[in-house]
Amino acid sequence: MLRNKVDVLVAGGGPAGVSAAVSAAKSGASVRILDSNGFFGGTLVSGIVGSFCGMFSARRSMDDQTYQVVQGVGEEIRKLAHDKGGVSPHNHSRYFDSYGYDPCILPIVLDELILKYGVRPSLHSLVVGAAVEDGAITEVTVASKSGIERIAASVVIDCTGDADIVHYSGGSYRKNAAQLQPGSFNFRMSGVDRSKGIPTLPEVAEAIRNATKNNPQAHLLREDSMFINPVSDSEVICGFSRLTVDGTDVESLTKAEIDGRSQVLPAAQFIRETFPAFRNARVCNLAFSVGIRETRIIDGVGRLTDDDVYYGRSQPDGVGKCAWPVERHVAGERHTEVVPLAEGDAYDLPFSALIPVGYKNLLAAGRCVSSERAANASARVFGPCTVTGQAAGTAAAQLLADQTPSFEALDIAKLRQTLKKDGALI
Ligand SMILES: Cc1cc2nc3c(=O)[nH]c(=O)nc-3n(C[C@H](O)[C@H](O)[C@H](O)COP(=O)(O)OP(=O)(O)OC[C@H]3O[C@@H](n4cnc5c(N)ncnc54)[C@H](O)[C@@H]3O)c2cc1C
Repeated sequence: MLRNKVDVLVAGGGPAGVSAAVSAAKSGASVRILDSNGFFGGTLVSGIVGSFCGMFSARRSMDDQTYQVVQGVGEEIRKLAHDKGGVSPHNHSRYFDSYGYDPCILPIVLDELILKYGVRPSLHSLVVGAAVEDGAITEVTVASKSGIERIAASVVIDCTGDADIVHYSGGSYRKNAAQLQPGSFNFRMSGVDRSKGIPTLPEVAEAIRNATKNNPQAHLLREDSMFINPVSDSEVICGFSRLTVDGTDVESLTKAEIDGRSQVLPAAQFIRETFPAFRNARVCNLAFSVGIRETRIIDGVGRLTDDDVYYGRSQPDGVGKCAWPVERHVAGERHTEVVPLAEGDAYDLPFSALIPVGYKNLLAAGRCVSSERAANASARVFGPCTVTGQAAGTAAAQLLADQTPSFEALDIAKLRQTLKKDGALI
């Protein structure tokens, strides 16, 4: 059994994990990041989801003027990918502002970012356990082709999306399996003729409603299927599936992978037959794995509430902003609820929502942060995940430098100052 030690251990290398690792390293800590995949980027790469969402201020109509509220590491990632030709210009629809990104370029950019700041990467490394003593994580157990390794870290940041560290160490969280937002299995088509027009969301929905009447395979199609912000002229990512799945249950995950793949060819056939731009298109790549929107949500010292989001509230311990609408894929339904912020340009993401109850040296960042249901359906996308990741990494380095006994005792004014200095919009 290998035994190793590090200042900051980041579990999970999605947008939150990469942002956390890079930020802790920038602030001077020795950092190691683990991911069970063979690449960084998390669901953005494995699920080929296609857009950097949640980076702009609130939009309530087509005419609203918006501005970028997510800066810091999120913007650094966007810019690096843009410089390699992997990001589209800013595009928007009625409620949504985003950038398209190329899922082939993103993991290359993230490798470079991790190495640039001296973070030690360990891919193909699955966290399978975590020990806790007197409120402190003492050891994290990792399984890989090299065997079982035990890593001791002064601070651990749980960016697994599924709050695996909190789960393995006996912490408290919410997971209501019956109400989890469904997953999806995206695919990409090449040979698209964009001069014939990529159908909009309402046009796709209308075509699917018509198909439902006559097509025996129509039950495979979600009503809010979409073509996702293409970066390339001839390739388009297709989000056409909806899967009931519990991302923390291996039987459920296996079924969803197989069901998701089984939906791809019928959906592609429907797309080819229905939309002229796709007449000669073919499937050129599948998601590496089913995309999971929601699993465990930690019980935090604080919590992002639904009203915090709807009313665009500021927080005394705000560590960054988000204004993505509440975008909730409803369990058991074929549609998605989308509700924009009722007031304000953006809401604050509170640091207290990153601190799992009962721990001194553990933070969580990304889609599993402490949040009510609607709030989570806004705060789960790329932009806010980079914000909470950056805050967690910066806080970890500060805790160590100041020898603060727990994250609850951290000097928040100082944290906000550092984040501001590092480009975050506070
Ligand atoms: C189908 C779908 C479409 C979406 N569309 C968009 C979109 O267009 N734009 C957008 O911004 N967001 C979108 N989202 C949301 C977004 O992808 C995620 O919410 C976001 O990636 C969450 O970031 P994260 O870092 O918290 O977690 P993740 O991206 O899920 O990353 C978690 C990482 O942790 C790793 N991991 C998990 N458990 C362990 C473990 N035990 N040991 C080691 N590693 C582990 C995983 O391999 C993964 O790499 C979509 C989500 C889905 C499912």
